[in-house]
Amino acid sequence: MTIHTNGSSSSNGIPERSVYLDHAATTGVLPEVLEAMLPYYTEKYGNPSSVHAWGRAAHQGLENARRQVATVLGCRPREVVFTSGGTESDNLAMKGVAWAYRRGVFDNKQPSEGPGHLIISAIEHHAILHSGEELEQHGFEVTTLPVDQYGTVNPDDVARAIRPDTVLVSIMYANNEIGTIQPIREIADIAHSRGALFHTDAVQAGGLLPINVDGLGADLLSLSAHKFYGPKGVGVLYIRANTPLMPQQHGGSQENRRRASTENVPGIVGLATALARAQQNLASEAQYVKGLRDQLIEGITTRIEDTHLMGHPTQRLPNNANFCIAGVEGETMLLKLDMRGVGASSGAACASGSTEPSHVLRALGVSRELAQGSLRLTVGIDNTPEDIAYALDVLENCVNELRTTEVAAKV
Ligand code: PLP
Repeated sequence: MTIHTNGSSSSNGIPERSVYLDHAATTGVLPEVLEAMLPYYTEKYGNPSSVHAWGRAAHQGLENARRQVATVLGCRPREVVFTSGGTESDNLAMKGVAWAYRRGVFDNKQPSEGPGHLIISAIEHHAILHSGEELEQHGFEVTTLPVDQYGTVNPDDVARAIRPDTVLVSIMYANNEIGTIQPIREIADIAHSRGALFHTDAVQAGGLLPINVDGLGADLLSLSAHKFYGPKGVGVLYIRANTPLMPQQHGGSQENRRRASTENVPGIVGLATALARAQQNLASEAQYVKGLRDQLIEGITTRIEDTHLMGHPTQRLPNNANFCIAGVEGETMLLKLDMRGVGASSGAACASGSTEPSHVLRALGVSRELAQGSLRLTVGIDNTPEDIAYALDVLENCVNELRTTEVAAKV
């Protein structure tokens, strides 16, 4: 299989141009990020817990990375825990806090007050939804809040759901499918005023929105490097000092006893380099991708009839365009786009391949029929206005072809 890089090419059967529009699924590692990582594979490969020179070099790389991440988050380095990615960070936040309550290590709550209760939203990533289901198997109770037609959680619903034994409210900063940004500061304040902790899955926000933990009111916050031009398989869980949390993986005493296992030093250095770079360019890059995203939205809504923008019209990630296109089947559309060099996704990447509407579209109340035509386009700093113009031409053609075939099949 040939993987196209963004750019144009032409020859028989090969797309004129290839345009990757799936940056919410993952991004490519930037050269400067890879460059920062390489010495930790080839020269400074020691175990950061070892006392010798190799170990000390790796330890220094690890702790520098921790300081870089802490600077972006506006927290202390000790509050940064490196993990294997967004999924692990979400699991650790949910299960770590829930089990800490059950073990009686909360200052302000006792297990006698109830089984332990968590509040999440219906459009969380599966890492949160399935962690909640797992906790329910152990007697914890989870309230899953609805969202409105734009995918926004109503803070009043959070206030109504909180109980004396609510230990954690976990609401994502921005949704991976429809891009809706939640009023998380307001939700965090409500959680705190009622004695609960607040976690946010900021995996999609990293590199696109400000992630200062005090500004957001987060006690815990998840990030994943591969969403902001860093490597896959490495993430962060920010844990505010004195937050009760039971480790979920047992072994060595790494990461201040909160996450056992030898640290992935090259990956962590890559994560920190990518995050610091993104932070430095946050305003200009968010503005750049927003321009491309708006070009997409404008082009799709004016050139293709019967298209519906999913997610919030303004409170949305600057790189996300998500549509339901009436009269087409999403998976077929993706294949056609791919054949012409455009990489897109239907709903969340992990839900692809299933013909069921994603849990996010269901939560918005989108009909099963319309949800069939779901298309997520997420732009990145490696895209150009010419890429978007090409993708729009291809998309318009694909939709016309699919709709014609559909009509012909019915005749
Ligand atoms: N949370 C959100 C919102 C995501 O979009 C993703 C990945 O798509 C994850 C969590 C999981 O992150 P990772 O792939 O690093 O496990």
